Amino acid sequence: MMSISENLKKIKSEIPPGVSLVAISKTKPKDDILKAYETGHRIFGENKIQEMTRKWEELPKDIQWHMVGHVQRNKVKYMAPFVTLIHAVDSLKLLNEINKEAAKNQRIINCLLQVKIADEETKYGINIDETKAILSSEAYQKMENVKVIGLMGMATLTENEEKIKNEFRFLKSAFKSLKEQQPLFTTLSMGMSGDYKIALEYGSTMIRVGSFIFGERNYN
Ligand SMILES: *Cc1c(COP(=O)(O)O)cnc(C)c1O
Repeated sequence: MMSISENLKKIKSEIPPGVSLVAISKTKPKDDILKAYETGHRIFGENKIQEMTRKWEELPKDIQWHMVGHVQRNKVKYMAPFVTLIHAVDSLKLLNEINKEAAKNQRIINCLLQVKIADEETKYGINIDETKAILSSEAYQKMENVKVIGLMGMATLTENEEKIKNEFRFLKSAFKSLKEQQPLFTTLSMGMSGDYKIALEYGSTMIRVGSFIFGERNYN
């Protein structure tokens, strides 16, 4: 088995310049994160706000923490002081809560809207019309402490590469067309351990990779 630092080195050799790598450390202990940190890696992602907040408290402060999981509005306050990017925003109400908590912390918090591209019921996200409605709403335009800088998507978990390609192709084209109206749009977050190579072919600018770097997760 390869080490965390070898895995990171391998994946970094495969991603083109300009693409960022979020190392998804959910369920993994601090020591594993430190092993990645010692190689110079600084961007980590978690899917539970309490777990991320605990790790933020205990680990070096120059780590950039990304929240990649579904966000409950009543928990935004815990991460508002430090979170770098929230990937899975799926409503104006949530955006409004992030704006409010960001203002309390005198920060501007970057967010992505999660678009549902998979056909699995278990995956969150909104459709393109809802995305456009949020971005063009007066409410969003008045928010001074959040910036929507792009889109995030998760492909269906399948062996069928054509299906994954179609889903990523769809998200890429939606991103491109929204970008024409949205000067802040820079980031297309798509691709995980099983499909990041395909996501890169389809124009991902940010991949979220967990098990490929840290090994399989145990959920107890
Ligand atoms: C867990 C998770 C990942 C990483 O998954 P791996 O298959 O372990 O790479 C990426 N994105 C989200 C939203 C996740 O919850």
